[in-house]
Amino acid sequence: MNDSKRIMNFRLSPLWWPVLAVVSPIAIPWLLNKNRNFQQNCLQAAKANQIRLSQATPLDLPELDFLELRVLVEWQAEEGFIGDAGVSYHFRTNLGTLLFDVGFGPTRPALGHNAARLGLSSDQIDALAISHLHPDHMGGIPAYRTRQVTVPDSLMPSETKHCFLPDKAQAGGFKVTMVVEPRLLAAGMASSGPLARSLFFLGYTEEQALIARIKNKGLVVFTGCGHPTIEVILRMVKQLSNEPLYAVGGGLHFPVTGGRGDRAGIQIQTMLGTGKLPWQRITDDDLSQTINLINEAGVKKVFLSGHDSCDHSLGRMQRELQAETDVLKAGAIYRF
Ligand SMILES: [Zn+2]
Ligand SMILES: [Zn+2]
Repeated sequence: MNDSKRIMNFRLSPLWWPVLAVVSPIAIPWLLNKNRNFQQNCLQAAKANQIRLSQATPLDLPELDFLELRVLVEWQAEEGFIGDAGVSYHFRTNLGTLLFDVGFGPTRPALGHNAARLGLSSDQIDALAISHLHPDHMGGIPAYRTRQVTVPDSLMPSETKHCFLPDKAQAGGFKVTMVVEPRLLAAGMASSGPLARSLFFLGYTEEQALIARIKNKGLVVFTGCGHPTIEVILRMVKQLSNEPLYAVGGGLHFPVTGGRGDRAGIQIQTMLGTGKLPWQRITDDDLSQTINLINEAGVKKVFLSGHDSCDHSLGRMQRELQAETDVLKAGAIYRF
């Protein structure tokens, strides 16, 4: 391994280490306190998910004639579209339309540009659902700080539409409904209901996944970041429907060799949102377990998000998953 490669392999560049030494009298008690909260939240999240799984009963999912996905924001992009480390997916079915997540919203150009290029306007959005309240899904860092889902002006509805949230927050211009259990949302698509995960820096995080039932195919499941883990999400899906799993898509959060949007020598995604302690890495073994789980679930198609998984993980999944596996691209249209 040459020197530059070795340095790239550090999640925190060695240039930061003297800084760490200086701030350690403040940082260490702060980290210990964070760790206490993290451990408590781990127990609470596991308990909450267990109760939700045990109480879930089958949902009356309408059988959809088709489901069309237009990818508005993703890490990879088709020519002429802007890639970004966020997620926004537009779903259309024979029963309506649903926008799932809004990437970094108006704070970065991807969503506005890509939506316009795909010819998507606000009247093609019957409802909005946000997977979870992180900046790359709810409209950027100001949106995250103020817990206010923020959508670019060009996609703001002219009349009041629903915004379905997995946790308490606001969404100006929308009628906010907090999703507290699995339920139908819009366009014949359902929510898994909130599922929890304890994250060291980002705290207790509730996330919902989308579920649709397609005629002659089965269930399609889409996640945002996949923080609760795809294992827990698929366990919930199984409680909600006996239909076979057809496709799984969205974020699975596997920054094994590095993260997206690294800043100043810090691989931020490998420490944020992993569900582990910041000094523990997400490993290839963790990824192997998830690959086995998806293979055992008999999924036919997988649509990976590159926004929270590294190229190494995307490559392994494309090689090792038995399902037909694609990496989602902004500007692409997929039909189920
Ligand atoms: Zn994300
Ligand atoms: Zn997230």
